[in-house]
Formats: sequence, structure tokens, C-alpha cells
Amino acid sequence: MHLFRRARIPLACLPPPLNQPGNAPDAALEPWRECDVTVDGSRIVAVRDSQAPAPGSAPGRTTDLGGVLVFPGLLEVHTHLDKCHTWDRAPGVHSDFWESVEILEADCPNWTEEDVYRRADFALRSAWAHGTVALRTHLNTNARAGAGAHAALERLQAEWRGRMQLQTVSLFAFQEFFGGEADRIIELSARHRATALGGFPQPGPDLPRQLDEVMAAARELGVGLDFHVDESDLVHAECLRATAEAVLRNQFPHPVACGHNCSLSVQDPARARETLALVKAAGIGIIALPLTNLHLQGRARQPAKPGQRFGAPRTPQWRGLTLLHECIDAGITVACGGDNVRDAFIGWGDFDPVEVYVESVRIAQLDTRLAFSPSVVTTGAAAIMGLPGYGRVAPGSPADLVVFSARKLYSLLARPATPRRFIHGEEFRDTILPDFDEQLSWPRPPSR
Ligand SMILES: [Zn+2]
Repeated sequence: MHLFRRARIPLACLPPPLNQPGNAPDAALEPWRECDVTVDGSRIVAVRDSQAPAPGSAPGRTTDLGGVLVFPGLLEVHTHLDKCHTWDRAPGVHSDFWESVEILEADCPNWTEEDVYRRADFALRSAWAHGTVALRTHLNTNARAGAGAHAALERLQAEWRGRMQLQTVSLFAFQEFFGGEADRIIELSARHRATALGGFPQPGPDLPRQLDEVMAAARELGVGLDFHVDESDLVHAECLRATAEAVLRNQFPHPVACGHNCSLSVQDPARARETLALVKAAGIGIIALPLTNLHLQGRARQPAKPGQRFGAPRTPQWRGLTLLHECIDAGITVACGGDNVRDAFIGWGDFDPVEVYVESVRIAQLDTRLAFSPSVVTTGAAAIMGLPGYGRVAPGSPADLVVFSARKLYSLLARPATPRRFIHGEEFRDTILPDFDEQLSWPRPPSR
């Protein structure tokens, strides 16, 4: 038993009634409550207001955290571990989104079990060193890719058991699923126990039928769905709406999440509201990927001059963020994820949910919902990932805590590099970020 005293925990991560604002004059700007947290083994067993009368002498050890900000272990709801850290051998040129798809498609013959294991292991050590305790990755799964990645992730799931929950989603293009690759996609997903079927639907007259069939396959597997949806500024891209309609039409019984949903923000507001009502009725969780959307959307160039491959870059205006506030107002569960890391889509990132949190606050103006804001990398992500107890500091939750060297939320927002320590079980654990130099010794795949 270990009692950690005076931890300032975000209200969003506390159980009732502790999650109610206190009487402090700055409660709106500093929405946390100072609590004493008791850990027994690998679980939190008690949380109480530090100012409440002590129930008696605490059994076991006591550590006074001194009134610093403490988050629960963090969740990363949307990543691509099969693609990460390929930047050095397959960098993006960034003329547009589809070019990045092609660059990674050309690299995917290299995605053997050992290759994915090496890169994903680096990624998970980074995520763990930043305080991540649960992570969901999409894995390209089709005729050309998936066997190595699924096998690598199954090994990593076993190795990280007890520290980090790892979930996999089989990602495929709908034209692959309906172009003769469905059996392989389903077989790999079943063999490696994928958490969900993924895929990126495209608008078109066949979409409702396609969604019905993918839902039938997921129902057969007994898994949920997690789609890449409407990652563009095309007004007619309404795959989110079609997915919600399909969930309701099929009475699909498993969890469904939709990531990106960028085009929602360029649609007619009344139409978008209707879509969100359908999303709410269908119980779909919405995942925003603000960092990659900021990087990839709104990208434009002038026409290329003769002899040049690309024209001069133009300043981006539309930044691709989905209707996050409108989703929240509609009562939809939302979360934010980091998406791609150091691959052709985006050459940086480090699997750090604090970076995702701080940047999401800035990009989506979540300062207007500050008390709610930590939920995008804690409770919201846990709800979408189906991990009860995660993302909360509550009795029964895993005893994983992120202890910041900051007393105020606005100090953390001001200085994202604020040092952190981590509690795992009853102890502080080591935090060793892997060095990028490690990657210098990785074998180079044969050049094509
Ligand atoms: Zn993605």
C-alpha cells in the first residue's frame, strides 16, 4: 500500500463527486482537485480530497507530492506502428496527401515482422517514456501487407502486458476489400485477434452496400470498427454520415469509431448538425487527429514551372480540424490522437500524448472547455478503446500516474516540456527515452 498525497488531478479524470468544481477562485482556469491517492499493488484503491478529514493513519508508505499536477496514465487512440520511423528511408515530398500514400506503398514490401517489430518497439518505448498506458494502432492489411505487422504486434502485446494495452485495427482500402482481398483481411484479423476492422471508405453509390458487408464481416469476427473517414475538404465526402446510417440500419452491436472527419467542417452547418445527430444515435466515437490534419490538409502549390516537379508552396488556410466542439455539444464521445509519426505523411512526432493534448488545446481552442480538455487523451480515448477504468484516477483504475513538475494546468500548457515522473503500481518507474542514434544501426532495406 502506498499513499500519494496532494496530487492535483484534472476534474475530467476524477469520479463523482470529486469531479465537481471546488470553491477555489480560479477553479474555471485551473480545473483540478488536490487529492490523496492510495495504491495497492497495481490498482488505485482510494481517492479522496486532500482537505477532507483523514480517515485514520494510512497503512503502508506515504509520499507527499506537494501539490503538483497529476494525470492518469495517458492513452493514444490512433497511430500507425507499421509505418512509423520509416522517414529516413522513405521520406515524404509533401506535394500532397496521395503522394505520401504512394511512397509508403512502395516501402511496404520491407514491412517484415522483424522490420515492424524494430520500429514499433522503438515507438512503444517512446510512448511509455512519455506516460502512455494504452495505444491503438492501425495496420495496413491487404494482399501486400499485414502478415509481418500483425505478427510483430502480437509479440509486442505479450511483451508489454501489465504495462501498456495494445490494440490493433486492420486497415484496408474498401476497393481492396471488395476487389478480392476480403478473405485475407478477415483471416489475418482473426488469426492475430485484431480489436477492430478499419478501412477507409470512399464516397459513392456502392458505399451503403459496402458498409453493410464490412459490418457483416466485423459481426462475424465479433469485433468493432474504426474507420479513416473523410480526410479531405471535399464537401460531398459524407462517409461519416453513411457509416452512422449503416450502424443504425444494421443495428451493429460492436463499438464504432471514425477518425479524421475533416470534410464535416466544410459542409452546410444544418447538414452537419443532422449528421452529428445520426452519429450520436449510432453511438459512434469521433477521433480528431489535429496534428496530422494541420500538417496535411490545406496544402497547396502554385502550378509547376517547366522543368520543375512542384510549384511554389502556398500558405495553408483551411487546417482540417473536424467539428470537435459541435460533437461535444451533441453528446458524442470524442478523443484526439497523434496519428502518423516519422513517416512519409509527417516527418516528426514522438508518440507523446501530452504533445497531442497541448497542441489539441491550442489548435481546437479547447481553452474554452478547459475542464473537459484532458479527456481527449484520457477518458474519451478510454471510452472509444473500451478500456473501463483507464484515463481516470478512481478506485479500481490502473495505478499509473503522470506526475508533472508543475502546479497549474496553465503552467503545463505554457511549457509542454515540463518534466514528468511516472508512478507505476506502488513505485516511481524509470523513464528512458530511446535515442534516435539507435536507428543509425538499423539495417537499410534493399533499395528498389
Ligand atoms: Zn491514421
